[in-house]
Amino acid sequence: MSSSEDEGGEEYLFKIVIIGDSAVGKSNLLSRFARNEFNPHSKATIGVEFQTQIMDIDGKEVKAQIWDTAGQERFRAVTSAYYRGAVGALVVYDITRQSTFESVTRWLDELKTHSDSSMARMLVGNKCDLESIREVSVEEGKNLAESEGLFFIETSALDSTNVKTAFEIVIREIYNNVSRKVL
Ligand code: GDP
Ligand code: MG
Repeated sequence: MSSSEDEGGEEYLFKIVIIGDSAVGKSNLLSRFARNEFNPHSKATIGVEFQTQIMDIDGKEVKAQIWDTAGQERFRAVTSAYYRGAVGALVVYDITRQSTFESVTRWLDELKTHSDSSMARMLVGNKCDLESIREVSVEEGKNLAESEGLFFIETSALDSTNVKTAFEIVIREIYNNVSRKVL
Protein backbone atom coordinates (compact mmCIF):
# COMPACT_ATOMS: atom_id res chain seq x y z
CA MET A 1 0.00 0.00 0.00
CA SER A 2 1.22 3.45 -0.72
CA SER A 3 -0.14 6.93 -0.91
CA SER A 4 1.68 9.81 -2.45
CA GLU A 5 0.91 13.35 -3.36
CA ASP A 6 1.59 14.90 -6.73
CA GLU A 7 0.07 17.68 -8.79
CA GLY A 8 -3.00 15.59 -9.50
CA GLY A 9 -3.67 15.04 -5.79
CA GLU A 10 -3.34 11.84 -3.81
CA GLU A 11 -2.95 8.44 -5.34
CA TYR A 12 -3.63 5.16 -3.65
CA LEU A 13 -2.49 1.65 -4.43
CA PHE A 14 -4.00 -1.22 -2.47
CA LYS A 15 -3.04 -4.87 -2.72
CA ILE A 16 -5.94 -7.26 -2.27
CA VAL A 17 -5.68 -11.06 -2.24
CA ILE A 18 -8.30 -13.67 -3.11
CA ILE A 19 -8.07 -16.96 -1.22
CA GLY A 20 -10.18 -20.07 -0.72
CA ASP A 21 -10.28 -23.69 -1.84
CA SER A 22 -9.67 -24.80 -5.38
CA ALA A 23 -12.56 -24.32 -7.85
CA VAL A 24 -14.70 -22.06 -5.65
CA GLY A 25 -14.55 -19.42 -8.39
CA LYS A 26 -11.70 -17.10 -7.36
CA SER A 27 -10.29 -16.63 -10.85
CA ASN A 28 -13.73 -16.09 -12.32
CA LEU A 29 -14.66 -13.51 -9.69
CA LEU A 30 -11.55 -11.58 -10.64
CA SER A 31 -12.05 -11.89 -14.40
CA ARG A 32 -15.71 -10.93 -14.02
CA PHE A 33 -14.75 -7.84 -12.01
CA ALA A 34 -11.71 -6.78 -14.04
CA ARG A 35 -12.72 -7.75 -17.58
CA ASN A 36 -16.40 -8.74 -17.33
CA GLU A 37 -15.47 -12.24 -18.48
CA PHE A 38 -16.55 -15.67 -17.30
CA ASN A 39 -14.73 -18.92 -18.09
CA PRO A 40 -16.79 -22.12 -17.86
CA HIS A 41 -13.68 -24.29 -17.75
CA SER A 42 -11.54 -24.27 -14.66
CA LYS A 43 -7.91 -23.90 -15.58
CA ALA A 44 -5.65 -23.96 -12.58
CA THR A 45 -2.73 -22.19 -14.06
CA ILE A 46 -4.58 -19.72 -16.18
CA GLY A 47 -3.47 -16.20 -16.45
CA VAL A 48 -1.83 -13.44 -14.69
CA GLU A 49 -0.80 -12.92 -11.11
CA PHE A 50 -2.86 -9.82 -10.57
CA GLN A 51 -5.21 -7.33 -12.20
CA THR A 52 -5.26 -3.65 -11.50
CA GLN A 53 -8.58 -1.85 -11.30
CA ILE A 54 -8.96 1.89 -10.91
CA MET A 55 -11.78 3.31 -8.86
CA ASP A 56 -12.79 6.83 -8.02
CA ILE A 57 -13.53 7.38 -4.35
CA ASP A 58 -14.36 10.89 -3.11
CA GLY A 59 -12.70 12.29 -6.22
CA LYS A 60 -9.48 10.37 -5.54
CA GLU A 61 -7.96 7.80 -7.84
CA VAL A 62 -7.72 4.49 -6.07
CA LYS A 63 -5.88 1.60 -7.71
CA ALA A 64 -6.70 -1.87 -6.51
CA GLN A 65 -4.12 -4.48 -7.37
CA ILE A 66 -6.05 -7.72 -6.99
CA TRP A 67 -4.06 -10.96 -6.75
CA ASP A 68 -5.17 -14.41 -7.81
CA THR A 69 -3.57 -17.58 -6.46
CA ALA A 70 -3.40 -18.94 -10.03
CA GLY A 71 -3.85 -22.46 -8.73
CA GLN A 72 -1.20 -22.42 -5.95
CA GLU A 73 -3.85 -23.50 -3.43
CA ARG A 74 -4.14 -26.91 -5.11
CA PHE A 75 -0.85 -27.80 -3.53
CA ARG A 76 -1.64 -26.15 -0.19
CA ALA A 77 1.30 -23.92 -0.90
CA VAL A 78 0.22 -20.32 -1.11
CA THR A 79 3.50 -18.55 -0.50
CA SER A 80 4.05 -15.75 1.98
CA ALA A 81 5.00 -13.53 -0.97
CA TYR A 82 1.39 -13.81 -2.07
CA TYR A 83 0.20 -12.16 1.14
CA ARG A 84 3.02 -9.63 1.49
CA GLY A 85 1.73 -6.06 1.64
CA ALA A 86 -1.91 -7.04 1.24
CA VAL A 87 -4.38 -4.72 2.95
CA GLY A 88 -7.55 -6.51 1.89
CA ALA A 89 -8.74 -10.06 1.29
CA LEU A 90 -11.68 -11.90 -0.19
CA VAL A 91 -12.09 -15.32 1.38
CA VAL A 92 -14.19 -17.35 -1.02
CA TYR A 93 -16.19 -20.56 -0.63
CA ASP A 94 -18.65 -22.31 -2.94
CA ILE A 95 -22.22 -22.35 -1.56
CA THR A 96 -22.76 -25.74 -3.27
CA ARG A 97 -19.82 -27.42 -1.49
CA GLN A 98 -19.93 -27.60 2.31
CA SER A 99 -16.26 -28.66 2.48
CA THR A 100 -15.15 -25.35 0.96
CA PHE A 101 -17.09 -23.53 3.70
CA GLU A 102 -15.44 -25.65 6.37
CA SER A 103 -12.05 -24.68 4.95
CA VAL A 104 -12.75 -20.99 5.54
CA THR A 105 -11.42 -21.07 9.10
CA ARG A 106 -8.16 -22.55 7.85
CA TRP A 107 -7.86 -19.79 5.26
CA LEU A 108 -8.59 -17.19 7.92
CA ASP A 109 -5.88 -18.67 10.14
CA GLU A 110 -3.43 -18.53 7.28
CA LEU A 111 -4.44 -14.94 6.63
CA LYS A 112 -3.85 -14.04 10.28
CA THR A 113 -0.33 -15.42 10.24
CA HIS A 114 0.51 -13.30 7.20
CA SER A 115 -1.24 -10.01 7.94
CA ASP A 116 -2.36 -7.73 10.72
CA SER A 117 -5.86 -7.40 12.10
CA SER A 118 -6.55 -4.07 10.41
CA MET A 119 -6.89 -5.85 7.07
CA ALA A 120 -10.26 -5.44 5.34
CA ARG A 121 -11.72 -8.92 4.98
CA MET A 122 -14.80 -10.11 3.12
CA LEU A 123 -16.32 -13.58 3.30
CA VAL A 124 -17.69 -14.44 -0.14
CA GLY A 125 -20.17 -17.25 -0.79
CA ASN A 126 -19.85 -17.73 -4.54
CA LYS A 127 -22.06 -19.58 -7.09
CA CYS A 128 -25.33 -18.26 -5.65
CA ASP A 129 -26.86 -18.88 -9.10
CA LEU A 130 -26.87 -22.59 -8.15
CA GLU A 131 -29.64 -22.27 -5.56
CA SER A 132 -31.07 -25.74 -6.28
CA ILE A 133 -27.88 -27.49 -5.18
CA ARG A 134 -27.00 -25.17 -2.31
CA GLU A 135 -25.27 -26.84 0.67
CA VAL A 136 -24.42 -23.76 2.76
CA SER A 137 -27.27 -21.51 3.88
CA VAL A 138 -27.07 -17.72 3.79
CA GLU A 139 -27.51 -17.78 7.57
CA GLU A 140 -24.44 -20.00 8.08
CA GLY A 141 -22.36 -17.63 5.99
CA LYS A 142 -23.65 -14.59 7.84
CA ASN A 143 -23.04 -16.15 11.25
CA LEU A 144 -19.47 -17.12 10.47
CA ALA A 145 -18.74 -13.66 9.09
CA GLU A 146 -20.23 -12.03 12.16
CA SER A 147 -18.25 -14.17 14.59
CA GLU A 148 -15.00 -13.50 12.71
CA GLY A 149 -15.66 -9.79 12.13
CA LEU A 150 -15.81 -10.04 8.35
CA PHE A 151 -18.04 -8.45 5.77
CA PHE A 152 -20.29 -10.99 4.08
CA ILE A 153 -21.78 -11.28 0.62
CA GLU A 154 -23.02 -13.96 -1.76
CA THR A 155 -21.96 -13.65 -5.37
CA SER A 156 -22.21 -15.27 -8.76
CA ALA A 157 -19.31 -14.86 -11.15
CA LEU A 158 -21.54 -16.59 -13.70
CA ASP A 159 -24.42 -14.10 -13.71
CA SER A 160 -22.47 -11.18 -12.16
CA THR A 161 -24.55 -10.95 -8.98
CA ASN A 162 -22.77 -8.77 -6.39
CA VAL A 163 -19.30 -9.23 -7.90
CA LYS A 164 -18.63 -5.53 -8.34
CA THR A 165 -20.18 -4.79 -4.95
CA ALA A 166 -17.95 -7.35 -3.19
CA PHE A 167 -14.73 -5.80 -4.47
CA GLU A 168 -15.97 -2.24 -4.03
CA ILE A 169 -16.91 -2.76 -0.39
CA VAL A 170 -13.41 -4.07 0.35
CA ILE A 171 -11.71 -1.28 -1.58
CA ARG A 172 -13.82 1.37 0.13
CA GLU A 173 -13.13 -0.10 3.56
CA ILE A 174 -9.37 -0.05 2.90
CA TYR A 175 -9.67 3.53 1.73
CA ASN A 176 -11.58 4.45 4.89
CA ASN A 177 -8.95 2.75 7.07
CA VAL A 178 -6.20 4.71 5.36
CA SER A 179 -8.10 8.00 5.54
CA ARG A 180 -8.70 7.51 9.23
CA LYS A 181 -4.97 7.00 9.77
CA VAL A 182 -4.13 10.14 7.81
CA LEU A 183 -6.60 12.33 9.70
P1 GDP B 1 -10.76 -21.12 -8.65
O1 GDP B 1 -10.03 -22.42 -8.67
O2 GDP B 1 -11.22 -20.78 -7.27
O3 GDP B 1 -9.99 -20.01 -9.30
O4 GDP B 1 -12.12 -21.33 -9.47
P2 GDP B 1 -12.44 -20.97 -11.00
O5 GDP B 1 -12.69 -19.51 -11.15
O6 GDP B 1 -11.42 -21.59 -11.88
O7 GDP B 1 -13.85 -21.70 -11.15
C1 GDP B 1 -13.98 -23.09 -10.93
C2 GDP B 1 -15.19 -23.62 -11.69
O8 GDP B 1 -16.39 -23.07 -11.15
C3 GDP B 1 -15.18 -23.26 -13.18
O9 GDP B 1 -15.70 -24.33 -13.90
C4 GDP B 1 -16.11 -22.06 -13.24
O10 GDP B 1 -16.70 -21.95 -14.49
C5 GDP B 1 -17.11 -22.37 -12.14
N1 GDP B 1 -17.66 -21.15 -11.52
C6 GDP B 1 -16.97 -20.11 -11.02
N2 GDP B 1 -17.79 -19.18 -10.50
C7 GDP B 1 -19.05 -19.63 -10.69
C8 GDP B 1 -20.36 -19.13 -10.38
O11 GDP B 1 -20.55 -18.05 -9.81
N3 GDP B 1 -21.42 -19.90 -10.73
C9 GDP B 1 -21.27 -21.12 -11.35
N4 GDP B 1 -22.39 -21.79 -11.64
N5 GDP B 1 -20.07 -21.62 -11.65
C10 GDP B 1 -18.97 -20.90 -11.33
MG1 MG C 1 -8.04 -20.05 -10.03
